[in-house]
Amino acid sequence: MTLLQVENLKKHYIAPKRWLSPRKPPIQAVDGVSFSVARGETLSLVGESGCGKTTTAKSVMRLIEPTSGSVQLDGEELTTLGAEQMRLRRRDVQIIFQDPYASLSPRLAAGEIVGEPLRNFDMHSRAERRERVAWLFDKVGLRPESVTKFPHEFSGGQRQRLGIARALALNPKLIVCDEPVSALDVSVQAQVVNLLMDLQAEFGIAYLFVAHDLAVVRHISHRVAVMYLGRIVEMADRDTLFSAARHPYTQILLSAVPVPNPRTPAQRMLLQGDPPSPANPPSGCRFHTRCPLAQAVCSQQDPALSDRPSTSAGGHQVACHFR
Ligand code: SF4
Repeated sequence: MTLLQVENLKKHYIAPKRWLSPRKPPIQAVDGVSFSVARGETLSLVGESGCGKTTTAKSVMRLIEPTSGSVQLDGEELTTLGAEQMRLRRRDVQIIFQDPYASLSPRLAAGEIVGEPLRNFDMHSRAERRERVAWLFDKVGLRPESVTKFPHEFSGGQRQRLGIARALALNPKLIVCDEPVSALDVSVQAQVVNLLMDLQAEFGIAYLFVAHDLAVVRHISHRVAVMYLGRIVEMADRDTLFSAARHPYTQILLSAVPVPNPRTPAQRMLLQGDPPSPANPPSGCRFHTRCPLAQAVCSQQDPALSDRPSTSAGGHQVACHFR
């Protein structure tokens, strides 16, 4: 059952006009992105740096105001809500940030940080809040006595557990995970990813998971959307995407994932050149300036994201004239 429905979401940044200089074209950070997330599902947004995945995720919860498009949570349109209505709706949509240290107030003890959303929404009495915070600490694997510690007294992994406990405090339906493990040591990443999966299994939370590490994405996702220059170019369930990717960009990204078997060396494909500017994206297919399969039509006609034959319920969509 669909929890989040995003249609034609756009975020264009318009540079201020300077005196005597021509107006610069808007930066099309996100340009017409559509996807859905079901209850209890993890949809990952992947792509190279600057492709618009974080902007998409933050626009969904209006931490960044979208330029246009529709975002519906449980059938309710979020983009037209007033500030107070949106604040109340954020009980259902929480976020875990990339840098746990920067996202936690250094002046508050851990128990206050985790209990802050409960206070903000005036939930529970003081004693009940203390009890709920202790329960949340237990759920994320932190010792109950650490409620009085400050963020700098925790390790990186423990700080991210604190961020998860805070996101969990209000029983959200959806958590936006913005690169939640990329600032952590590799040894700690798996623990945090497994914790997120355990919490999803227990509470049925959906995740919109932003990441560039495809090994992590493969482990945690049910479905994956690949973004390039502000657009989704391929979307499929995890197994289809990792075993039968069709879009040339996805295939190049996947070829960079290390293969742990020395008998089957990776066939690495290299991405040519730098990503074009989102202020002046290429005509036609946005990937044509770097695509090894590009033909004349690719620079003239923009391929729509459309269905390909698939046996999975979520289908397999690709934006390419030839794949
Ligand atoms: S439409 Fe053309 S340029 Fe774009 S991905 Fe397909 S082959 Fe490459």
